[in-house]
Amino acid sequence: MIAQAISRRIARLHEAQTLGMAQRVRDLRAQGKDIVSLLLGEPDFPVPPLLQEAAIQAIREGHAPYPPVAGLPPLRETIAHYYHRTYGLPYTAAHVVVSNGSKQAIFNALLSLIEPGEEVLVPVPYWVSYLPLIQLAEGRPVLLRTDHTTDYKITPDQLEAALTPKSRVLILCSPSNPTGSTYTATELAALGEVLERHPQVWVLSDEIYELLRYEGQHVSPAQVPSLYERTVICNGFSKAFAMPGWRLGYLIAPKPIAEAATKVQGQTTAGANIIAQKAALAGLQSDLQTLIAPMVQAFRERRDLIYAYLSQHHPELRPYRPAGAFYFFLDVSAYFGRKTPADSPITSADDITEYLLQNGVAVVSGTGFGSERHIRISYAVALTAIQEGLHRMTQALRALAL
Ligand code: PLP
Repeated sequence: MIAQAISRRIARLHEAQTLGMAQRVRDLRAQGKDIVSLLLGEPDFPVPPLLQEAAIQAIREGHAPYPPVAGLPPLRETIAHYYHRTYGLPYTAAHVVVSNGSKQAIFNALLSLIEPGEEVLVPVPYWVSYLPLIQLAEGRPVLLRTDHTTDYKITPDQLEAALTPKSRVLILCSPSNPTGSTYTATELAALGEVLERHPQVWVLSDEIYELLRYEGQHVSPAQVPSLYERTVICNGFSKAFAMPGWRLGYLIAPKPIAEAATKVQGQTTAGANIIAQKAALAGLQSDLQTLIAPMVQAFRERRDLIYAYLSQHHPELRPYRPAGAFYFFLDVSAYFGRKTPADSPITSADDITEYLLQNGVAVVSGTGFGSERHIRISYAVALTAIQEGLHRMTQALRALAL
């Protein structure tokens, strides 16, 4: 009876696989098992002290009014100014809506842009929450598959072939979760040229890993002149400011979309936590590069170490050198058709993930990201854990018999 009470919209919704896996690791550890976790999608660094102090001061001020729905005006202004200064995009505070995490910003954008049944183009592999959010907004996801041959990026021809009169939004995520690949200015311009022939299509640009970049410059699709007026940028403070638990993100969009997103937010959660907003403001007003340099440097070193290791020991996993974020997306299909020492067949990334977990290393199966052939490992964990995790992975994979 109770199950029948759940709406179809919610009953169809999947739980995030990453969260399910994290729970299994907790359960196994509680049973005394030694598990190295390479699951995490959050930095293993504390919130920078400058932001901690700003948050403490905000608490001590003693006032906790409802914040304005779209965010504190100085924070919105500083975000607009940051994008203007850094990327030459002439945004003002009126284009910015601050939310409870960038996930909410993405959902606000989708709810504001799509009519039921309209198509949202999603490159595969994708971040785990895009499809459920599209589903909740009653859109129809159209998947654009990519592989290592294009560094997991879509091509203009592929985009052209997927577009229909019902297409409404193209989601781009650069640097990408799960692959770490990044689009160049030339590649975005080529996609922009295709979209010029389809003026009804918007770009939702997920830039949450924008500051976690280890080479080259971040480029936003909004910098392509023909796309500026139809790009919604979603970004946030969970990654570069290491404050995912403080839940703060934002979108930047042409004013009608920003106003629509504000309307959605006003009737759902209202404005985001004022303490987190004041902390983020202090961070954005400081010397940003200095603030995040230690974390970026640590991620770069880990990436280099893992890439060198995988290239030497695991060319069969087709390691791809990520330019940003903190993940490796590895093709495990070379092991399909083999058997574990306990004689269980390996036929999918889910099987490999389960087998690695039994061997003391937790990774995420690619299934939740749209790929049956991959696993994702995160390097938002200490170097010693990474080394031990890689060692266990190698031992386990070598024990798989033909
Ligand atoms: N987009 C991508 C690609 C992510 O990896 C994440 C978090 O893992 C988010 C958006 C959501 O971030 P938040 O809601 O914490 O700002």
